[in-house]
Amino acid sequence: MARYHASVCRLCRREGVKLFLKGDRCFKDKCAIEKRNTPPGMHARRRGKVQGYGLQLREKQKVKRIYGLLEQQFRTYFQRASLTKGVTGEVLLCMLEKRLDNAVFRLGLASSRNQARQWVSHGHIRVNGRRVDVANFQVRQGDEVSVAPSASKNVFLLSAVESSKGRGVPEWLELDGTNLKGRVVREPQRADITYPIEEQLIVELYSK
Ligand code: SF4
Repeated sequence: MARYHASVCRLCRREGVKLFLKGDRCFKDKCAIEKRNTPPGMHARRRGKVQGYGLQLREKQKVKRIYGLLEQQFRTYFQRASLTKGVTGEVLLCMLEKRLDNAVFRLGLASSRNQARQWVSHGHIRVNGRRVDVANFQVRQGDEVSVAPSASKNVFLLSAVESSKGRGVPEWLELDGTNLKGRVVREPQRADITYPIEEQLIVELYSK
């Protein structure tokens, strides 16, 4: 599948905010946004003020990049959200939040969503005791997300867990760090997503 292979910090600089794509580094002074929060490219500073369609597009790109999705995947989420009861923008964000790779990242079992996706696709993650290797699997209230016994001594996984300590776990999840597992306490709500996102702009973009 097509993936973005260039520097992910460029993506943050393009959006002008931290997207937390690089694990540990994102929480340190080495973060490119902390050091140099300017858009990438030679002529980037000459670009005029972004408004209208440009703003809507940037908002969509920001969310797509936070959750590491490709255009078509993101559009599919939007279509599903628009067919679901509720405020489309909020439903969309909650659906993205319930992705298994995101839940693994949010629990602190991986240092980034990218790494979480790798744990999942390599079969290191179990949901309710069963192996699930599909990153877009939607977790539900009551689900138990755990590290497979075969991976519980994986040094990369353990070091990711160690480095994620202190990052905090959102209220819709509960972590049992000792046993490398967590539980979905309740469905995530819009207030649980603290990134600076204006989802209404995405709805406007796709409603054209
Ligand atoms: Fe973004 Fe993380 Fe790079 Fe900072 S370190 S610019 S948050 S990917």
